Amino acid sequence: MFDSLQDRLGSILNGLTGRGALSDKDVAAALREVRRALLEADVALEVVRDFTDRVRAKAVGAEILKSIRPGQMVVKIVHDELIATLGSEQVAIDLNAPAPVVLMMVGLQGSGKTTTTGKLAKRLTERQRKKVLMASLDTRRPAAQEQLRVLGEQTGVATLPIIAGQGPVEIAARAKQAAKLGGYDLVILDTAGRTHIDEPLMVEMADIKRTTEPHEILLVADSLTGQDAVNLARSFDERVGITGIVLTRVDGDGRGGAALSMRAVTGKPIKLIGTGEKMDALEDFHPSRIADRILG
Ligand code: GDP
Repeated sequence: MFDSLQDRLGSILNGLTGRGALSDKDVAAALREVRRALLEADVALEVVRDFTDRVRAKAVGAEILKSIRPGQMVVKIVHDELIATLGSEQVAIDLNAPAPVVLMMVGLQGSGKTTTTGKLAKRLTERQRKKVLMASLDTRRPAAQEQLRVLGEQTGVATLPIIAGQGPVEIAARAKQAAKLGGYDLVILDTAGRTHIDEPLMVEMADIKRTTEPHEILLVADSLTGQDAVNLARSFDERVGITGIVLTRVDGDGRGGAALSMRAVTGKPIKLIGTGEKMDALEDFHPSRIADRILG
């Protein structure tokens, strides 16, 4: 579909072999292609700008080595900078707090919160032998609480019994109390989303946070989100304060730009990725995979 960045830079720069160092002019031409590749990968504009500035600073004056072609050299600089921005170390979910540890999942409607809640609960139950309680705080979408209950049955993870008429904050408080009384190691709160960010959503998230003091607040976001990824991540981080990001639908054919945008504006680690609808399709985040997608 797209020429790889490697090919594009090759055709611009590889004629330069034998010259001493990359000039401003060579780098400017290369950066136009880098910028195009990032925009095609759906990286947000403001992030593209900062990113290309950093690449420029590293590329201007870089010695052209005999062993490596100039196009490849710029690709390497871009690749290394992508990895540095995406975060080179895997950061695990932090469960290091007195039980019951509260994990709060936030995000827009349809981003994959409920599915990810089920996947994460299953993973922590099976791999870390944790006793997990899941609770749906979504009282707006009638089927949401039932959806989580069914996932709990499928995965063998306990869900908080549904009591009709309770509001989200009330359910959250009840979930934490039930986890305490029931000897659970952790409780995962699946909050309600909206189709877009609005004030009532942020107020509700802040109320739930104040009531339950979550140890982790994970923003669940669709990897196919385009330019909106920056606003989404920034709003949730500024208003609620996230501790990490779970990127869903990485199995889709997106080019991974949302990951770079969200990480760049919040500085918060991408902790996990969703790679399918099944309950075991949750994996650790490897920045090089996303970097390769962005490079095309
Ligand atoms: P919520 O509204 O944020 O709770 O979103 P849901 O968890 O209900 O997910 C919405 C849809 O996305 C469902 O059909 C899920 O099966 C699907 N989904 C969630 N995560 C992934 C993923 O990583 N890959 C794919 N292909 N589908 C996913």
